[in-house]
Amino acid sequence: MRTQLMAVVVGALMTLGGTAAAQGTPAAPPAQGKAAAGAKAPAAATKGKTEVTWWGHAAFIVRTPGGAVIAIDPWLTNPKAPQGAAQPEALDAILVTHGHFDHVGETKALAQKTGAKVFGSFELINLLGLPEAQAVGANAGGTFKVKDATIHLVEAVHSSSYQADPKAAAQYAGAPLGFVVAIDNGPTLYHAGDTGTFEGMSLIATQFKPTVAMLPIGGHFTMGPAEAAQAARLLKVKSIVPMHYGTFPLLQGNPDALRGELKTLRGPAKVLDLEPGKATAL
Ligand SMILES: [Zn+2]
Repeated sequence: MRTQLMAVVVGALMTLGGTAAAQGTPAAPPAQGKAAAGAKAPAAATKGKTEVTWWGHAAFIVRTPGGAVIAIDPWLTNPKAPQGAAQPEALDAILVTHGHFDHVGETKALAQKTGAKVFGSFELINLLGLPEAQAVGANAGGTFKVKDATIHLVEAVHSSSYQADPKAAAQYAGAPLGFVVAIDNGPTLYHAGDTGTFEGMSLIATQFKPTVAMLPIGGHFTMGPAEAAQAARLLKVKSIVPMHYGTFPLLQGNPDALRGELKTLRGPAKVLDLEPGKATAL
């Protein structure tokens, strides 16, 4: 799997300026100007607001009003990552939905640099070999508090394996997960991880009342735009942040297609088309 995916990544990198643009996927943002946007971001969000920064693919940095800084699926070197933006220097928590390389990303290096706790499936966290004080192996149903953020682990319909080294065989990495991040006096975010649409999304809506859903829309390995529109209906969210699209040529779904599918379903959710590296207050 890793070999196949790496081949896809290499292909995507080689064609980023050509094929990807021709397919209508957004080109990587220009290097100039991004450094200012991403560098030296404040430790906490704008007063009273939660700030979400998409880092391309499924990677996000969330800053809460209470000062929690949380990275989700931090593959910060993905082909859509903001060029020249400074990576976060301080993190309280890293949430990893599953073991595939495009989600684990730089988790180990970031954990080492920041001392952040790493949350994920019990099996994946064991495979990552983190210091005990930082390793929070858990499973769907678990709830954790990080400053003013309450993190719930929920199901995802996908697979999960981890390759510590490209030459080694992939190892079973437990069940894939999604994360609900409920922020005190703020939004409740749902990061679906890699998943197809599933009926349990209506239970996530009932239990946690998410207001914003980060949903994969690329298709092939996850939901595409039509399935994501159905998911938004089950989740009853006000806003969708599309992710996991445009990174490789295989991930063909795009935000305009999602808008079209929402219109067909008469879904009220708004599509928040985030620009990689730009913090957005929610
Ligand atoms: Zn995956």
